[in-house]
Amino acid sequence: MAYQHQFDDGRAVDWPLGKVVCIGRNYAAHAAELNNPIPTTPLLFIKPASAVVNMAEPFRVPRDLGEVHFETELAILIGQPLTSADETQAAEAIAGVGLGLDLTLRDLQDALKKAGQPWEKAKSFDGACPLSSFISPDNIDLTDCQIRLQVNGELRQDGNSSQMLTPVLELLSYASRFFTLNPGDVVLTGTPAGVGPVRPDDQLVVELADQLRVETRAC
Ligand code: ZN
Repeated sequence: MAYQHQFDDGRAVDWPLGKVVCIGRNYAAHAAELNNPIPTTPLLFIKPASAVVNMAEPFRVPRDLGEVHFETELAILIGQPLTSADETQAAEAIAGVGLGLDLTLRDLQDALKKAGQPWEKAKSFDGACPLSSFISPDNIDLTDCQIRLQVNGELRQDGNSSQMLTPVLELLSYASRFFTLNPGDVVLTGTPAGVGPVRPDDQLVVELADQLRVETRAC
């Protein structure tokens, strides 16, 4: 079934699925675990709508393309257009808060980085962006919320949005200077430390504070 944004409480999301704007290395501990320098300005990239799937359904991981890594991220659903927006406008435009997996072909990304080439094949392939449903932003403190991932019953990622190098509102404002954010677009806010491989049949539990919990499976 084609992906469509959903609110957790059953309210319909009227906007079509748009692009997904992502930030790399937004948690210092994650930059360090991959031996990457901490960026001095936000490192942005985009996943197209064709990469998005429903996190609550089993999601396919590519075979024969090397390791696929999970990156668990706070996801922001945009509800109003933002172009060169300030942080107040950014706050007003947040329609929902959820979770995303920034699936990454890590071996391929390493090869592309070495060759000085763009990351798209490693980050933007079909199925590279499982998204959860979204809760109201009124229910969550974006500057202090816990993001957790268990794989096969083991806690692998456990970070807090307070650790972001570029906090959510600043990130939305910055991104909107380059890319107009439209209703139905999503912004992924970077992964905390602990990334690792996800393989077919792995069972995942993805949690946002005590507000959102998704049990899913790779296939
Ligand atoms: Zn990421």
